[in-house]
Amino acid sequence: MSFNVKVETCPKCGCKNTENLLRVEKGSPIKVYVKCSECGAFVACYTLERYTSDKTYESLLRLMRKRGHSVHSRFRAKEIDGFSAEIQEQFRKTLEAPRCELKIEEMILNHR
Ligand SMILES: [Zn+2]
Repeated sequence: MSFNVKVETCPKCGCKNTENLLRVEKGSPIKVYVKCSECGAFVACYTLERYTSDKTYESLLRLMRKRGHSVHSRFRAKEIDGFSAEIQEQFRKTLEAPRCELKIEEMILNHR
């Protein structure tokens, strides 16, 4: 599998410090608005297919039970994914990969 990795940069000030603002809205996919921590400029917006945090599948099940969700509803929660060894391995490889010189838009177009 080949992939490219890049750290996002603010288009206004060139800073690499960003804040991710998650927007969760009923009936809409989860969106992430990326804002520059230095100047506050809009950097990017993503639509998520799935959200994976550091929570394991087991701890997600506990959280769902605590919130009164039935066992069946967990199968409907396709937007949430448990942390796994596979994710850990992908994260490690992503950190190790050389940073790409292309623009993010070019990276995306190259993989289409
Ligand atoms: Zn900035």
